[in-house]
Amino acid sequence: MSLLTATNIGRRYTMRRGMMSRPVAVHAVDGVSLTLERGQTLGLVGESGCGKSTTGRLVLGLEAPDAGEVLFDGAPMPPPGTTAWRKLRARMQMVFQDPLGALDRRLPIAAQVREPLDIHNSLSPDERPARVEELLGAVGLRPDQAARYPHELSGGQRQRAVLARALATNPDLLVCDEPISALDVSIQAQAMNLLVELQARFGMAILFISHDLRAVRQVSHRVAVMYLGRIVEEGEPDAVLHDPIHPYARALAAAIPHPGSRGKPRAVLQGDPPNPADRPSGCAFHPRCAIAEAACRVSVPPLLARPDGRAVACHLAHDPAFAKAA
Ligand code: SF4
Repeated sequence: MSLLTATNIGRRYTMRRGMMSRPVAVHAVDGVSLTLERGQTLGLVGESGCGKSTTGRLVLGLEAPDAGEVLFDGAPMPPPGTTAWRKLRARMQMVFQDPLGALDRRLPIAAQVREPLDIHNSLSPDERPARVEELLGAVGLRPDQAARYPHELSGGQRQRAVLARALATNPDLLVCDEPISALDVSIQAQAMNLLVELQARFGMAILFISHDLRAVRQVSHRVAVMYLGRIVEEGEPDAVLHDPIHPYARALAAAIPHPGSRGKPRAVLQGDPPNPADRPSGCAFHPRCAIAEAACRVSVPPLLARPDGRAVACHLAHDPAFAKAA
């Protein structure tokens, strides 16, 4: 049984464009299905505003979906805030983008790592200091740093402290939302390696949310590419990132700088992402797609499985002439 299964989940918000305007529905997440196996990492990648973070909140039960269902360990996710949901929280933790914002500036690091153990009554009070020490060691913090306050640590050290706290209750699932984007580029690789090491040691599954394809490739067992609230391609990282099929996934992959390219991307996406409140008809990617056809403006392409283990949502991807056309 998979640890996490989301089936056709959706989340709508209502917003106004101005004081006098009528409210409009924004589909932040629309019909997303994903599966996460125990001890594995699913990378969720896409541009800012594509619905990645909302998807993370839905699978954690921080928000209830308007449509679809989330199963955790085979059972439906309890409604947010209920006693049943709070009990599950020890098994599901989240790591946010900004480690300084995630930590309490008034408390030393050791106290913050211990906090989840106290809240969830994990281990006996006598056993908790040893667990804190073990966790700080696992994330590479020195014993003398346990007594420091967040502002006395570097950004990378703070993110290590956040990881130690998230792992305190030995969770089955970690949702990491842009966990390296606030870190200095020089230490991002270290943070990624640490995440891989911690997964090997503690065995948790990870939903890794990022706009950075290189980071996603480094840590993920599977990758899902999102565009305007929907998954457009899903499969193994090598296939999706080295030989993408969906035109949007192709554009993202082409934008990764190559060694020797002095950081310049080979190609960039045309135009800005559309406003989610004004989603284009049919395939939402059609205004930016170089190979769009008339049908693309009319009907939404379903996410269809392919014989190579991938799933792609593009009308032309299942057409034998596609490879030539693209
Ligand atoms: Fe492009 Fe059409 Fe495929 Fe959408 S369905 S990605 S517009 S070819």
